[in-house]
Amino acid sequence: MTERATVVIIGAGPAGLVLGNLLVSQGIGTLILERSSRDHVQSSSRAGFFGANSARVLAEHGLDFRLALAGRAHDTCTFRHSDGDFTLNYGELGRGETHVLYPQHELVADLIGEYLRRGGRIRFGAKVTDVDASTATARYEDAFGADEVTGVFLAGCDGGYGASRHAIPASHAVHLGRDHGIVWLAVLAEAPQSSPAITYAIHDDGFAGHMARSASVTRYYLQIPSDDTLNAWPDERIWTELGVRMYVERFGPLCTGPIVDRRAVHLRSNIVDPIQHGRMFLVGDAASLISPAAAKGANLAIMEAEFLANAMIDALKNDDESALAGYSRTCLRRIWRAQEFSHWMIDLLAAPRGCGPDVGFRRALRRARLDSLRDSRAHQHFFAENYVGV
Ligand SMILES: Cc1cc2nc3c(=O)[nH]c(=O)nc-3n(C[C@H](O)[C@H](O)[C@H](O)COP(=O)(O)OP(=O)(O)OC[C@H]3O[C@@H](n4cnc5c(N)ncnc54)[C@H](O)[C@@H]3O)c2cc1C
Repeated sequence: MTERATVVIIGAGPAGLVLGNLLVSQGIGTLILERSSRDHVQSSSRAGFFGANSARVLAEHGLDFRLALAGRAHDTCTFRHSDGDFTLNYGELGRGETHVLYPQHELVADLIGEYLRRGGRIRFGAKVTDVDASTATARYEDAFGADEVTGVFLAGCDGGYGASRHAIPASHAVHLGRDHGIVWLAVLAEAPQSSPAITYAIHDDGFAGHMARSASVTRYYLQIPSDDTLNAWPDERIWTELGVRMYVERFGPLCTGPIVDRRAVHLRSNIVDPIQHGRMFLVGDAASLISPAAAKGANLAIMEAEFLANAMIDALKNDDESALAGYSRTCLRRIWRAQEFSHWMIDLLAAPRGCGPDVGFRRALRRARLDSLRDSRAHQHFFAENYVGV
């Protein structure tokens, strides 16, 4: 017999867990299906910078108990380049908003604990293999075999490579996407941050980035050739290359330490339009994959999850589906704004590779963009508004 839940959620990332928490707190029965183990999702390091809207959503719904204690406000970024550097205190620009710095996997652990405490159901190790959007049914496999669950609504929160986005037939949606042809080596080092600000280094050998994660762990990024393997990047080479691109001869040494995590991040962006079909709604990376330049993915996921939760509550409790009907239209407007800003950041940070007039032209454009950001107050306000907002 098919199992039932009012809302079936696929995926226990920020999108699925915020949605689940908001629904169960209103007495709506939800079941989350998550393919990985609890340990795995609670230890998978990714985002760290949460914008003002995410902080508001988490606080308003009682989900920020640890983040409010352990999260750190962050409001400055520095751009280094061949002729010097400049720092923007973005907390005093734009809408005056700041980031909260808190590791995503710790937020995921908080959200799982709170979801279970509120009475939500979650099944780890349950991989969804097939989705029927018209009946809100998810078929899955777990250690006990194959099974299925049907809801009134289905939420596809299973990330950029999950099953739900493919359940919208090509006749009902367009899948737009772009491979930037750029790869970032993302590493976590057991080392304190080397400077108080997020640091973006613009260098002709490729972008290098530095951002805090916690008092003892720092994230670094290095743009690497797209066909390089991780084996080509032992610790020593990473620190040497970071030193060159971060211009340490001029700005002083980096705080180094053991590299505890490394992964290659292919900068890809895509969008499904619309992000709803039948009784199914896509949320977070499942709806739109966005490159980590500009730190937008988890923030979009939280924004969409709150909107969808409110719309589902209206539909289920007040018999009013008007907000649900507008879910895709409303969220896609914000998703495209974030995508546009993320593209602007990629063009600012990435070093065009090779030689020839086109490469030289793009390098000069990048420099003009940087000069404009340094010199124009209006540009700085625009940057700050888009950098922290979704
Ligand atoms: C290195 C890096 C740094 C980043 N930094 C930032 C940042 O600072 N700020 C920011 O906002 N964003 C950042 N991001 C992006 C952010 O991490 C993602 O956008 C965010 O995780 C999206 O949340 P989600 O819930 O939509 O998807 P996910 O977090 O990917 O969660 C999806 C869940 O679904 C599960 N799943 C997948 N397929 C199935 C299936 N078939 N059946 C069942 N379960 C399934 C997965 O196991 C996973 O747990 C970063 C990303 C990376 C890679």
